Amino acid sequence: MISSSTAQLHGGSRPNHFKVALQSQTSTAASTALASQRKPNAPGSPLARKPLPGSAPRASEEPSEDELALTLVEQPRAPKQFHLGMFEIGRPLGKGKFGRVYLARERTSGFICALKVLHKNELQHGGVERQVRREIEIQSNLRHPNILQMFGHFHDSKRVFLILEFAGKGELYKHLRRENRFPEWKAAQYIAQMASALRYLHRKHVIHRDIKPENILVGIHGELKVSDFGWSVHAPNNRRKTMCGTLDYLPPEMINPGSSENYYNEKVDLWSLGVLTYEFLVGEAPFEDTPVMTQRRIRRADMSIPSFVSPEASDLIKKLLVLNPEKRIALEQVQVHPWILKHCVKGERAANREKYSQ
Ligand code: ATP
Ligand code: MG
Repeated sequence: MISSSTAQLHGGSRPNHFKVALQSQTSTAASTALASQRKPNAPGSPLARKPLPGSAPRASEEPSEDELALTLVEQPRAPKQFHLGMFEIGRPLGKGKFGRVYLARERTSGFICALKVLHKNELQHGGVERQVRREIEIQSNLRHPNILQMFGHFHDSKRVFLILEFAGKGELYKHLRRENRFPEWKAAQYIAQMASALRYLHRKHVIHRDIKPENILVGIHGELKVSDFGWSVHAPNNRRKTMCGTLDYLPPEMINPGSSENYYNEKVDLWSLGVLTYEFLVGEAPFEDTPVMTQRRIRRADMSIPSFVSPEASDLIKKLLVLNPEKRIALEQVQVHPWILKHCVKGERAANREKYSQ
């Protein structure tokens, strides 16, 4: 358990690597986060509202000219030497299989983030060291408004710390359970954001492989943040036969590990996007059943869409939940599908396309 007093042991002035790192970010997500944190009353940033005990008073929230000049002189890609003393630790945000996540604030810049703490011995016992290493490698190289950013990582003798973007509105899974199902406009906007994030990932040859509401967080402005890159891989990969993900979201080509047709590519994420669209609109996954039946039904794409789902949404679901991976609708076409066009603001889509296509 980390306490703010432990963190304070390392207090004092130090080179402002964190700020340099943040100022070198081009992502709108990071700058939006920074901007909202500069407002003391910004909703959802409790640390910004109420200083943590022992925090040093700050003369000004804006970087001085000298600070800005420094960032121009310093190498933006210089290795960032983070350590626990740089952070004030706030309330716990949640607990995962291997770690706890805390709200944290970088002392010198005041930047709010989430600090995920993993215990090395637990990672070892769970046999997931490689998975965590891969998660760090992949996630820290991604910059997209709908992908949870990893700003950096560091470790001490017992623990690994991941510095993550703070998702102010928590888990999408909880929103879905609370609302039971999402109205079509909201589901469509979410799916548009997912399509944009997946397009970015696939362009970088990253397959997520574990898209589901539990792995999506919600930012302070209600925007989706794909997280949990523990199962993601660079495609093509040599470990295609690994069984992963919960059954409900498992694409047909990933069932039966070891069978010769069990080769898959980034199209697995399209299947999961179809399951996600269905679950957003219906409130439960399309193949939810006993484990044996779920697998059988996935292999046959055996599902029925309730009549309250609009014909446009139904059409998109059917074009994503196609057994043959090559015949699934492409992400570019998802982005201009009539259901998406009907519910999303045109200007936003165009802006996103321009910013994130290369
Ligand atoms: P598992 O390790 O089994 O996949 P998990 O993904 O829930 O579980 P963590 O990523 O360790 O585990 O996160 C635990 C919980 O902490 C999340 O479910 C979420 O509620 C919260 N959380 C994690 N990261 C953030 C973040 N960046 N911003 C806000 N809350 C977060
Ligand atoms: Mg998770």
